Amino acid sequence: MVETLKVAILGAPGVGKTAIIRQFLHNEFMEVYSPTACQCIYRPSVILNDSMYELKIMDVPNLTAFPANVSQEWSDLKCRGLRNTSAYILVYDICSLESFEYVKMLRQQILENRSGCPNEVPILIVGNKRDQQKQRFATRRTVAVLVKKTWKCGYIECSAKYNWHIILLFKELLISTVCRACKH
Ligand code: GDP
Repeated sequence: MVETLKVAILGAPGVGKTAIIRQFLHNEFMEVYSPTACQCIYRPSVILNDSMYELKIMDVPNLTAFPANVSQEWSDLKCRGLRNTSAYILVYDICSLESFEYVKMLRQQILENRSGCPNEVPILIVGNKRDQQKQRFATRRTVAVLVKKTWKCGYIECSAKYNWHIILLFKELLISTVCRACKH
């Protein structure tokens, strides 16, 4: 039987959530921004270590204008079945401190609504738009240390525009999700 792993991709509007999924699934990128209007679910099959998995990737429309009220957004997300996902991808734009603050609050909401334990569910923090790194608000190292050491989350930077590290980020997520499932 093929195991299904439910993955929610969350973050502030415009950080590139849909662009990351599109690049992963279709190898395409669109410069024009059209906000995600309704919840989209994608179901690619992937192979890891000779086992096949079905990913159920949920691209969720942002409910409030940016900077949003994350608690309000999260309570609505709970209703959409995002409370019991296998893993979360939290995306921010490496040039936007506000979008990083948003990710910080989302992570807090996830922990509070699950067991409160950082090891309960895999959370991968993704810094997108790496191609614009001259305008980044902090060095990669500064963010990586905070995310990995303090938050105990995975961290990766990517560019959906240039398809840089897109496959790698899904691979990392899959490895940490499958490994965690094996340990329990
Ligand atoms: P979402 O609201 O988080 O789903 O954001 P989108 O995926 O719709 O992307 C928002 C805007 O950012 C669009 O205009 C994309 O073309 C642009 N974008 C997304 N990823 C990248 C990237 O890696 N680099 C650059 N330069 N632009 C990006």
